[in-house]
Amino acid sequence: MKTEKIGIVGSGLIGRAWSMLFTSAGYQVMLYDILPDQLSAALEYIDIELHRLEEHGLLRGHLTAEQQFKCLRTTSDLKELSRKAIFIQECIPERIEWKRSLYQQLDDILEEQTIVSSSTSTFMPSLFTEGLRHCHNMLVSHPLNPPYYIPLVEIVPAPWTSPQAVEFTRQLMLEIQQKPVTLKREVLGFATNRIQYAILNEIWHLVDKDILTVRDIDTVMNEGLGLRYAFLGPMETAHLNAEGIRDYIQRFGGEIHKVSETYDAIPKMEPGPTLDKIAEQCEEMVPRDMLATRRKERDAFLTKLSALKKEF
Ligand code: NAD
Repeated sequence: MKTEKIGIVGSGLIGRAWSMLFTSAGYQVMLYDILPDQLSAALEYIDIELHRLEEHGLLRGHLTAEQQFKCLRTTSDLKELSRKAIFIQECIPERIEWKRSLYQQLDDILEEQTIVSSSTSTFMPSLFTEGLRHCHNMLVSHPLNPPYYIPLVEIVPAPWTSPQAVEFTRQLMLEIQQKPVTLKREVLGFATNRIQYAILNEIWHLVDKDILTVRDIDTVMNEGLGLRYAFLGPMETAHLNAEGIRDYIQRFGGEIHKVSETYDAIPKMEPGPTLDKIAEQCEEMVPRDMLATRRKERDAFLTKLSALKKEF
């Protein structure tokens, strides 16, 4: 077990997952929330979850569930949370005015060594750290849901984040067995959502024009592209699909351009006939009262997949 302290702000879905990831490496984790009930619910959830993972042989790290749970404390006092913390991971709801207010409060009490990192999925770090005294120690570490099973973390610095804060965060993510990628500078949507939204835009058009059903689109991914992408990225895939990437572009670059020229303009995703069609087909595939069951299945599949990936 370690003596260093990690603070987690916000004990919802993502705060709980980060708490488990940091305790899995033996860090002393302190969890803070404005709602005391949330804190007790989080403790109960984490206790059950750690023991369930242990029972199924899926617990991360070398410590037992009990040892990991013992690394966890809660507080309703932000000052207590930040005292002697080497790193704080913020996980409050995605409301810019809430984030700004929290970062302002933290700025007033932070110690010099503490790095503060946001789980935000959509806000560039400059939006809520500009002008703060400790802005050089603030950045984004964006996880993917569920973080315990999907290891990617996008580290996104603001223009004023110090290289030391970025490197410290990257090393910490590696230590807790996550897989960080570091953006050289902030960009809207970071990397994952920029790529994901390009896919969703095209899917919207394909369904709108009645070229494919929702189910068939998912089959294109989960029985086709996704199978490769689970262990090779698109770039290595291309590199292997010819005699190297130069050969691939020489052979297919023209075709890629020809197809790309037929893409429609970026769709406005809003309520209307296209969304009605997509929603009807999605709900046929997974009825709304089955979403929770399907999420559990997703987590179980992802766990098996990550175990399999360790063999590569
Ligand atoms: P959530 O609603 O499940 O939990 C938020 C928690 O923050 C609640 O317990 C709430 O009581 C607490 N809170 C609210 N204001 C607070 C404050 N000022 N100080 C301390 N605690 C406060 O939210 P979530 O889904 O865990 O999302 C948290 C962050 O993670 C968001 O920025 C979100 O964009 C990001 N994120 C979410 C997902 C996801 O799929 N849910 C994935 C990646 C990143």
